[in-house]
Amino acid sequence: MMIVDDKIDADVIVVGGGIIGGSFASLLGQAGLKVILLDASKRQVESFKKIDTRVFAITMASKQILKKTGAWKRLQKKDIACFRKMHVWDENGLGEINFDSASICQPTMGYVISRQFIVDALKEELLELDSVRCLWSVSPVSLREEADAIVLGMEDGLQFRTRLVVAADGHNSKLRNLANIHYQKYDYMQSALGCTVITKLEHREIARQRFLKNGPLAFLPMADSYQSAVVWSSSPEHVQHLKGLNKPEFHLALAEAFAHKLGDIKESTEKVVFPLSRAQANSYIKSRVALIGDSAHMIHPLAGIGANLGLLDAASLAEIVIAPYQRGRDLGRLQVLRRYERRCKGTNRNMIYLIDSLKHLFENKHQSVQWIRNFGLDAVDSFPFVKNVILKRAMGLVGDLPKAARGQF
Ligand SMILES: Cc1cc2nc3c(=O)[nH]c(=O)nc-3n(C[C@H](O)[C@H](O)[C@H](O)COP(=O)(O)OP(=O)(O)OC[C@H]3O[C@@H](n4cnc5c(N)ncnc54)[C@H](O)[C@@H]3O)c2cc1C
Repeated sequence: MMIVDDKIDADVIVVGGGIIGGSFASLLGQAGLKVILLDASKRQVESFKKIDTRVFAITMASKQILKKTGAWKRLQKKDIACFRKMHVWDENGLGEINFDSASICQPTMGYVISRQFIVDALKEELLELDSVRCLWSVSPVSLREEADAIVLGMEDGLQFRTRLVVAADGHNSKLRNLANIHYQKYDYMQSALGCTVITKLEHREIARQRFLKNGPLAFLPMADSYQSAVVWSSSPEHVQHLKGLNKPEFHLALAEAFAHKLGDIKESTEKVVFPLSRAQANSYIKSRVALIGDSAHMIHPLAGIGANLGLLDAASLAEIVIAPYQRGRDLGRLQVLRRYERRCKGTNRNMIYLIDSLKHLFENKHQSVQWIRNFGLDAVDSFPFVKNVILKRAMGLVGDLPKAARGQF
């Protein structure tokens, strides 16, 4: 059935203009779909003069997606760091594992970029797309399904009629609640402390992670060769204690916990604390509603892949809804949306549980488990074939990837 309806305000409405919602809206806008993007935050591009404490490790697949959105070309080279190697080791034992992008003939394993730079680049791109309308400082309050559309009501009484509404409003998604989709959340009883630091030694473009008894401590190399982004996961009490330390005390505690791998800590930015959970929505779709990014799932940050999975959701859903749009068909039908859920939900669930198992394995204090763990790290380290398989998957170079993630535009 061909769709002709001039009472539709937009083909798709996206709620949430973070990395995931902004990327999704941009991918649709580039394909000519009429999109309304709503976000509860303020309008202006918030270009940071200082480095944002939320810094992301970005895979090669995510880079391709950000290229397709148009945001990548707007990022300044000086704000993008590459990491060529990764070193992971255990506090309890001698086990370690090293990954090197050269082993699979790639110049880099991935990139490290401040979240704010990506969000700003996406906002700039969206402002230039004629078919995308952005509304800031707004939040939805109601959702009503009709025969061939869905109506989204806003706080100020405005209503928008669309074929499909997409939730990209993060883990506390209001839209997911309005759609009555259950979100199964498991609280890790752990927090992450994030900040950026200047170290005495150069990071040499190596991402490093040390598994401590209460959680992992990661240093991600930034564009300045002495600057790293730190994510320290531990018990909420310990994280609060670390947050309360003055700079010299904190620098000492951090350098010791990291076994002085990068020498003394010279300087650090403001510390930010994030509670950690894993979560998965019971369903990613409902008639004329789809969830992407953290509104659909949440994962422990130890592998630095939450936003990368969300970008794959965005690119997959975009590819799936653009096809019926181009044939003049209804893109919000459950039949169409099921393709998206089939493609992403199982893969995301497997990744969430894989990371969850690793987390529990590394936090297990039993001596025999520690021994097996260290043996396992060394065993994997000595099998280049196994390591390269893991590396390719972590870099987003293999798997059922959407075209945008494969650089096929
Ligand atoms: C410590 C830590 C480190 C991490 N490191 C990495 C990493 O290295 N690599 C990686 O890939 N991932 C990482 N992640 C995960 C990553 O932060 C998330 O997966 C990602 O930010 C999710 O993006 P999102 O756009 O779905 O949600 P969000 O970033 O939460 O964005 C939601 C957007 O929706 C808007 N919004 C919220 N409520 C409403 C509403 N009611 N109405 C309208 N708009 C609304 C917000 O203003 C915001 O713009 C990390 C997470 C943590 C906690």
